[in-house]
Amino acid sequence: MSSSIKIGIIGAGPAGLTLANILQHNNIPCTIYDLDASPEARNRGGSLDLHPRHGQLALREAGLWDEFVKHARPESDVMKIVQQDGEVLWDGNGADACVVSEANKFDHRPEIDRGALMSILLGGVDAQSVKWGKKLREVMPAPNEQYDLHFADGSTESAFDLVVGADGAWSKVRRWLSDTTPHYSGITAIELWALNVKENHPWMSSYVGKGSCFSFGEDRAIQIQVQGDGSIRTYASLRKPETFLHDCGIDWNDTAKARKEFVQQYFGDCGQDLKRMLFESDDELVPRPLHMLPVGFRWDTRPGVTLLGDAAHLMTPFAGVGVNAAMADALELARGLIKYTKAKGAGSLAGTLKTYEDELFPRGEMFAQKTVNNMEKHFSADGNIHMADRLRTAFGPAKTLAAPQWSPA
Ligand SMILES: Cc1cc2nc3c(=O)[nH]c(=O)nc-3n(C[C@H](O)[C@H](O)[C@H](O)COP(=O)(O)OP(=O)(O)OC[C@H]3O[C@@H](n4cnc5c(N)ncnc54)[C@H](O)[C@@H]3O)c2cc1C
Repeated sequence: MSSSIKIGIIGAGPAGLTLANILQHNNIPCTIYDLDASPEARNRGGSLDLHPRHGQLALREAGLWDEFVKHARPESDVMKIVQQDGEVLWDGNGADACVVSEANKFDHRPEIDRGALMSILLGGVDAQSVKWGKKLREVMPAPNEQYDLHFADGSTESAFDLVVGADGAWSKVRRWLSDTTPHYSGITAIELWALNVKENHPWMSSYVGKGSCFSFGEDRAIQIQVQGDGSIRTYASLRKPETFLHDCGIDWNDTAKARKEFVQQYFGDCGQDLKRMLFESDDELVPRPLHMLPVGFRWDTRPGVTLLGDAAHLMTPFAGVGVNAAMADALELARGLIKYTKAKGAGSLAGTLKTYEDELFPRGEMFAQKTVNNMEKHFSADGNIHMADRLRTAFGPAKTLAAPQWSPA
C-alpha cells in the first residue's frame, strides 16, 4: 500500500477534530463526517479543563496554542468544597489562592468552554473537509482492504484505507470491532443552567467563586461550574436505578415544576445556599443518565479501522478527564500516521494502528479507573472530606472560611 492514504473520521467532536487538525497541520488530508446538521446544532456544553500533557499538548501540536491561550480561563482553575449542610471545607478563591499564578497559569488545569474549544478546533481545519448532516449507518468492507461508509441519508463514500471512529458514546464504528456497548453507570445527573447570572442572580457568582463548587454526599452530589460568559451550570446527581427518570413520578417535560419537585424531594435537606443554587438555576434542565464502557475495554486490532475518545473508552465525568483522554488519543494516532506517511511505505498501516492501540488501551483504562474511583468517593458520606484532604495535600493548609450566607435573610 502507498503511504498516501484515504482517511475518513467519523465524528466532529473534540477527538475527531483534534485528529483532523494535527493531520492537516502536517499536510495529511482527511475528511470528517458528523451527524449534526451544522456546527451550531449542539447545545453549548460546559467548561472543560485541559491538562498540560494531554489536551494542551494536542493543541500545541495542532498549531492552535495561541488560540487556546486567547480563550482559556486559568483563573477558573479553583475549587470550593461545601458540606451538604452548607459548611465550607475548602475555598481556593480569594487573593491568597495558591493554585494559579501568572507564572504557572497553564501548569495545572486551565478551563475552557466547550463552545470555545470547538470553535478553535473547527477554525483550524479546512472547512471543506467537514461534512455535516452525515450520520454514519455502517462501515462495510470493500476490495483491497478498504472500507465504504454508508450514511443514513442513503449516500455512500467509498474506498477508505483508514476509518477512525470518533463518534462518541454510541459509536457505529465500534460495532465493526466489538459487540460491547456502554452500560448505565448507576448515576443520573440533572443538568441545570442559570444563564444571565450577572443580571438575574449576581449572588450566585459570589457564592460559587471563579471556578467549581462541589458538594458530595451519600448517593448524591452537586457540582457547580462557572462558564466563560458568567453563566453557571450545575449537575445535581443521584445514585439511582436506570429507570429512575421514568419511575420517579416527575414530569421532566414541565421543567419548572420538575426542577422544584426534584430539588425538594432529593436535595431538600441541603443548606440554604446550595438549595437556592438548584432552585434558581431555572433557565434549562437536562436529565442525563450517565453511561460508561467497561473499564479496560479493548478489541482485537483489525486493519484499517480504529477508535478514539468516548467511542474507545466512554466514562462518566467524575474525574473530568474525558476530553483530555480523547485529545491524547488523537495526538498519539496522529503522530503514528505522520510517521507512517513520512516513511513512504517503509512501515505498515496495520502496524501503526497496533502500536497506537497498544498504548491507547492502558491509557484509556487508567483514565477510566480513576473516574470510577472518583465516582465511588464522590457519592459517599465522606466524599467532601476526601476531596478537601486531597486539595490540602496538593495546595497547602486549609482554606476554611466561615460560611457566608448569600441567601436572603
Ligand atoms: C454531562 C457530561 C459532562 C462532562 N464533563 C466533562 C468535563 O468536565 N471534563 C472532561 O474532560 N470531560 C467531560 N465530559 C466528557 C467529554 O464531554 C467527552 O469525553 C468528550 O466530549 C469526548 O469527545 P469525543 O469527540 O470522543 O466524543 P463526542 O464529544 O461525543 O463527539 C462525538 C461526535 O460524533 C458525532 N457522531 C456520533 N454518532 C455519529 C454517527 N453515527 N455518524 C456521524 N457522526 C456521529 C456526534 O455528533 C459528535 O459530534 C463530560 C461528559 C458529559 C456527558
